Amino acid sequence: MVITKLSIRNFRNIASLELEPGDGVNVIYGDNAQGKTNLVEALFLLTGQKSFRQTKESEFVRFGEKKGEINARFFAGGREQEVSLTLEGGKRSALLNGLPLGVGELTGRFFAVVFSPAELSLVRDGPSQRRGFLDSAITQVMPRYQKTMSDLSRALFQRNSLLSDMARHPGMDDSLLAVWDRSFAKLSYSIINARARFLARLAPFGEEIYRGISGGKESFSVAYQCSIPGEWGAVPEEEGEEVILSALERSRREDLKNGCTTVGPHRDDMDLRVNGISARAFGSQGQQRSCALTLKLAECRLIQEVAGEQPVILLDDVLSELDKTRKQYLLSGLASGQLFITCCDRSGFSAIGKDGVTWRIREGQLAARQRIVSRKKKG
Ligand code: ATP
Ligand code: MG
Repeated sequence: MVITKLSIRNFRNIASLELEPGDGVNVIYGDNAQGKTNLVEALFLLTGQKSFRQTKESEFVRFGEKKGEINARFFAGGREQEVSLTLEGGKRSALLNGLPLGVGELTGRFFAVVFSPAELSLVRDGPSQRRGFLDSAITQVMPRYQKTMSDLSRALFQRNSLLSDMARHPGMDDSLLAVWDRSFAKLSYSIINARARFLARLAPFGEEIYRGISGGKESFSVAYQCSIPGEWGAVPEEEGEEVILSALERSRREDLKNGCTTVGPHRDDMDLRVNGISARAFGSQGQQRSCALTLKLAECRLIQEVAGEQPVILLDDVLSELDKTRKQYLLSGLASGQLFITCCDRSGFSAIGKDGVTWRIREGQLAARQRIVSRKKKG
C-alpha cells in the first residue's frame, strides 16, 4: 500500500498541511514540539484504530477549532482510493471512496503499523501492553476479532459481577455461573486460538528480523504464554472449550475468594527472549528497543502475507539508542514499502540505501521537500 497524498486540517498543532510522499523513505525532521508525532498520529488514525498515544478523542482537534480533518489518497487493492476522517465533538466519522462507513471498518482497508517510543512499554511493562499489541495486530488481519474481544470483555464483566455477588451472599444459587462459564469458555477459546496461531506465524519473521537488526549477533524468540495450559493453536474447538471449562472449575474457589476471574485470555502474556533469556528482565535498553521494533516489523510482514498489502510503516523517533548496525539495517535493507521516519536531526540519513525524501516541519507546517541522494562511494 502506498499513500500518494495526505492533507490535514486542524489536527493538534497542524492548521493546514499537504504532503505528497515518496513511495520509499520519507523523513520528517524538526525540533521538539513542532508536530512530527502529530503527523504520524494523524496518519495512523486512518487505520481506524485508537491512537497509539494515551489521549482522549476530544484532544485531537486544534485548540480553538471545532472540526479536524485527515484525508489521504492511497493505492491499495490494485486501485487508487481515498479515505477521509473527520474529528468533531469528540467523535470520528469516516468516508472511504466517498461512501460513509464505521471508523472501525477502515481497519483491514488502510494498513499502517506505528513504532513510537511508547512501544518500548511492550517489552518493559506488564502483560497488558503485550496483549494490546497482539489484539491490535490480529485485528488488522482479522477485523472480526475486535467483536469477539468486546464480547469477551462483556462476558468477563458479567462473570466477575456474579462472582462478587456470590462472595457477598454465600449460599446464593450458582447455576447462573455455569451459564457464564460456558459463554466465557467459548469466547476465550476463539481469542486464545487466534493469538496462538498469530504468534506461531509471527515468530519466524521475528527471528529473521532480529537477526538482521543485531547484525547476526543475537537471537530472538517469541511465544504465547497462556494462563491455561494447553496445545493452543492446535486444539480443536470443542476440546479447547472443555480445557477452559475445567480450568474455570479448578480456579472457582480462588475466583470466589477474589471476586474475579483469575484465568483466561485477560491474564495471558507473550514471552520475549533475546539469546534465550527474558528481554523484559535482562535486556539492555537497545535490546528492548530492538525487540519492540522486531515485533512491529514482523507484524508488517505478516499483514503483507495475510492481507496481500504491505502496510505503511511509521517510525516515530526510533533512531536514538540504536547503534550503527541497527540504524543501518533500519534505514537500508528493511522496508520494501513506504516508510515515514521522524527525527530531530536530518544528519545520518545520507546512510539510506535508496533515495528518499525529507521534509522539515516547523510549528505544524512543512517546508519544501528535498531528495536524499544515497552517497556514492568514490572510485
Ligand atoms: P518531539 O521531538 O518532542 O517528540 P514533536 O515534533 O513530535 O516533538 P508533537 O508531539 O507532534 O511534537 O507536538 C507538537 C505540539 O502540538 C506540542 O507542543 C503540543 O502542545 C501541540 N498540541 C497537541 N495537541 C494540540 C491541540 N489539540 N491543539 C494545538 N496544539 C496541540
Ligand atoms: Mg514526537
